[in-house]
Amino acid sequence: HADTAMYQAKASGRNNFQWFHPKMLDETNDRMTMASALRHAISARELSIAYQPQVDLRTGRVEGFEALARWRSREYGSVPPDQFIPVAEDSGMIVQLGGWVLRRACRDVASFQRVLGRPLKLAVNVSPRQFRSSSWFAEVVGALKDSGLQPSQLELEITEGILMDDRWEVLDLLSSLRDLGISIAVDDFGRGYSSLAYLTRFPVDKLKIDRSFIREIVAESHAPIVDAIIVMGHALGVSIVAEGVESRDQEHYLRSRGCDEAQGYLYSAGVPAEDAVRTVQAIGVF
Ligand code: C2E
Ligand code: MG
Ligand code: MG
Ligand code: MG
Repeated sequence: HADTAMYQAKASGRNNFQWFHPKMLDETNDRMTMASALRHAISARELSIAYQPQVDLRTGRVEGFEALARWRSREYGSVPPDQFIPVAEDSGMIVQLGGWVLRRACRDVASFQRVLGRPLKLAVNVSPRQFRSSSWFAEVVGALKDSGLQPSQLELEITEGILMDDRWEVLDLLSSLRDLGISIAVDDFGRGYSSLAYLTRFPVDKLKIDRSFIREIVAESHAPIVDAIIVMGHALGVSIVAEGVESRDQEHYLRSRGCDEAQGYLYSAGVPAEDAVRTVQAIGVF
């Protein structure tokens, strides 16, 4: 019996080495080749930015844009960010890529507002790894300076995970950015731990309600959660953005609940820089 048990333990131990499975090897390989393709993407001009408008629900006016990275690879074709951002994170490339997105987006938005004749805001997604890079703070300051955008026009979208990071350096860096006048938004709120308690550890400016909740509000099943996020957020002095707004019904509901801003295909998907100004003008004011 003891022999059998030992054999079983070994057998199950062997099962733990499933990363030797040929299919998984392929995946690792794919990620490595994708990482090296990504390494050349910036210099090969394969990266671009899509700008998605963010609308003030009270005025109906476009207040600014979220910058969304796009990769059109010679080898892979168009790769969605949900695929290449994790690869960029794991390989460390995100520091370079994120720096490029930030500088480029600041410059682009500065030019949009010159054409429109009024200031615009810019939201940029930031990965956890960028916050651990020693150059990040200087890059943000540099991008603002070079573009002429004011710190109050820049918003950094972070994930809940960043706020739950125990390292004091992370919160310290967030504080320094906020002291400059930059705002901090929590992206995909509701998808993860969604503990409002971390808002007492670090004061953020905005919560972006994950689009999975917005999808269901008209069918009502998620309406109480959305209501609660808006009420609690406002009580804590945080402004609320709804992501993934696709219908007028959703918009009306959100406006009636006092949600501050909305973003989604109802207004526009992310558009290339050359279409950004036209998109703002087309959305107009209702
Ligand atoms: P996110 O920051 O939550 O961005 C919103 C995503 O939802 C975008 O997907 C956008 O195109 C999509 N979206 C917007 N409105 C609607 C809508 O009405 N309906 C639906 N179904 N979807 C909508 P995208 O561009 O594919 O980006 C996916 C994620 O990749 C982003 O989610 C963000 O987490 C990440 N990402 C994109 N660009 C960057 C970047 O420059 N740096 C970092 N670190 N992450 C980025
Ligand atoms: Mg975002
Ligand atoms: Mg989001
Ligand atoms: Mg996201």
